Amino acid sequence: SLPTIFVITPTYARLVQKAELTRLSQTFLHVPQLHWIVVEDSPQKTPLVTDLLMKSGLTYTHLHMLTAKDRKLKEGDPSWLKPRGVEQRNEGLRWLRQDREAQLGGDSQQGVVYFADDDNTYSLQLFEEMRSTQLVSVWPVGLVGGMKYERPVVEGGKVVRFHVGWRPSRPFPMDMAGFAVSLKLVLANPEACFDGEAPMGLLESSFLKGLVTMEELEPKADDCTKVLVWHTRTEKPKMKREDALQAQGLGSDPAVEV
Ligand code: UDP
Ligand code: MN
Repeated sequence: SLPTIFVITPTYARLVQKAELTRLSQTFLHVPQLHWIVVEDSPQKTPLVTDLLMKSGLTYTHLHMLTAKDRKLKEGDPSWLKPRGVEQRNEGLRWLRQDREAQLGGDSQQGVVYFADDDNTYSLQLFEEMRSTQLVSVWPVGLVGGMKYERPVVEGGKVVRFHVGWRPSRPFPMDMAGFAVSLKLVLANPEACFDGEAPMGLLESSFLKGLVTMEELEPKADDCTKVLVWHTRTEKPKMKREDALQAQGLGSDPAVEV
């Protein structure tokens, strides 16, 4: 049977959340043997996400983990100041380890773990590429880091360096969307997690170092020559007219879920 792809997605309430999760869930519907682990950044599970998941047709697990207040970006803070989605990804890992250890049977450790932010754009081909991951597989990410793309550079089938816009000497100068890890490796390293205190640009490295070396990385997507995932970011919708109408008591009906 196909190895299951466990996709861990942090998500938080904002005007575009339902649109993001709708697009993502409908991509995942096209991927066989996918288990979606959705971790809300909220004090409890919200009705919007609960309902969306229930109607999604996907195999899923719904979790929540509120980001500590001092770790959260404030309105107007530059986005590089603090990493986002850290505690949610770690909660997803915690659930996965606990759930898999509780399963008996030969297939329960077969699988792949991928961290998919809710606003990126994913090609279906990406999931076929990552399904054969033995330790850690890698590929290019489009529209990221102030570059058209970032990617591992492959020579003789091995990753020898990284084409990135900034600090290529980092242990693993890769975006979250640019790698997947085998479930076996995640289970064999129960302490591996994301360090929210890691200096800027080192969040991915904080998880990957200790798991693999650069030499062991498995290049996918035609030796990392194809872009199959894009670090897209959704513009925050302007509510100027909504706010103006609201002030006159003519705002949109709050009972209509957007
Ligand atoms: N996220 C979250 N809580 C937050 C901000 C972001 O859970 O307060 C999630 C978000 O939904 C996404 C991931 O963390 O899945 C990365 O956030 P974002 O896309 O804003 O980061 P960027 O694209 O700027 O790196
Ligand atoms: Mn994003």
